[in-house]
Amino acid sequence: MPNAFSFVFLAACLLTASTRLWLARRQMAHVAAHRAQVPADFSARIELAAHQKAADYTLARTSLGRVSLALDLAFLLALTLGGGLQRLHELWLAELPGIAYGVALIFSVLALGALLDLPLALYRQFVIEERFGFNRMSVRLFFADQAKAALLAVLIGVPVLGIVLWLMEAMGANWWWSVWLFWCTFNLLVVFVYPSWIAPLFNKFTPLDDDSLRQRVEALLARSGFASSGLFVMDGSRRSSHGNAYFTGYGRNKRIVFFDTLLNRLQPTEVEAVLAHELGHFKHRHVLKRVVLHFAGALALLALLGQLIDERWFYLGLGVTTMNTAIGLQLFLLVCPVFTFMLTPLFSLAARRDEFAADRYAAEQVSASELISALVKLYEDNAATLTPDPLHSLFYDSHPPAGLRIARLQESL
Ligand SMILES: [Zn+2]
Repeated sequence: MPNAFSFVFLAACLLTASTRLWLARRQMAHVAAHRAQVPADFSARIELAAHQKAADYTLARTSLGRVSLALDLAFLLALTLGGGLQRLHELWLAELPGIAYGVALIFSVLALGALLDLPLALYRQFVIEERFGFNRMSVRLFFADQAKAALLAVLIGVPVLGIVLWLMEAMGANWWWSVWLFWCTFNLLVVFVYPSWIAPLFNKFTPLDDDSLRQRVEALLARSGFASSGLFVMDGSRRSSHGNAYFTGYGRNKRIVFFDTLLNRLQPTEVEAVLAHELGHFKHRHVLKRVVLHFAGALALLALLGQLIDERWFYLGLGVTTMNTAIGLQLFLLVCPVFTFMLTPLFSLAARRDEFAADRYAAEQVSASELISALVKLYEDNAATLTPDPLHSLFYDSHPPAGLRIARLQESL
């Protein structure tokens, strides 16, 4: 039953998997080769022990990434060419009518994928993160998180998927326009309610009560014309000792969130510099740009799905003999990443450009040297490698390598 498209799909799978393995091998070799010595630019700021910890942490994570890659590929092939999706269809078809069948089919694929990922997630958290001293989570909290996320996925996902499947069937040949409009509205809604409704399900948020830091931050916000509905501290230390800061929401519902781990580690001037970097993203409209790009991409993909969903070769080529809306959508969701993987470097390149722009903004608004010392601490605390393989970094990294980033900041001093 395999057709020409089966071979195109297999070739794309092989190309994607071999590229990923090759890049992982390069990354591991490069990090291992530079493990013995702190790079010259950092030798005054970072101890050899911290550098070696970062190298070992990178090696451990990259190595696990290869296992995860192999499992994902096996799952994808089992569902498609292996006939797994066809089996699931037969399992649910007798039981359920219309939209319920589609929701059940797609959710069973999701559940199988999550189940397959569970041992890896456990290993990542309780073996790797634990070994490097980052894990603060109990097994109980881990499963409580998983249960909450699963419940949320069902509560939100079932109606959303139901509406999408209904639109696809009820709106005629040009259904993809209405699905796109619905998808964009839904996404904007989620981003809007996330800070106040969803994030608090997983973490505690308390208003920032350090007065001197708050005044400093408020002065920076006023200076850069940023209106926010509050500064919050998140108990990130409940799960991990990695530190971060971000802002979420939009319009009047914007919030700035600091991880408690970040505040414990950085001086107030360094926190200010990190926040200025985040504001730089806002000032340069990076967030808006990303949303527009995401929506445009969704429209293109939905239009493509609109073409493929009635093509018999698309189903047969992927190991399915039954044609219907839910299977068409599920197949598309499964195989899309295989074909879009090669676009990764483009998105990474754009993201790194934005990082440089945000760094420049922070250097202008606060100070380059404060941002440098904050970054060095964050790289050290997160055990991020200072010596990534250049090609690996070029392909995947949303942030420029530490050395390049700090060199740029130093130029502005
Ligand atoms: Zn950034």
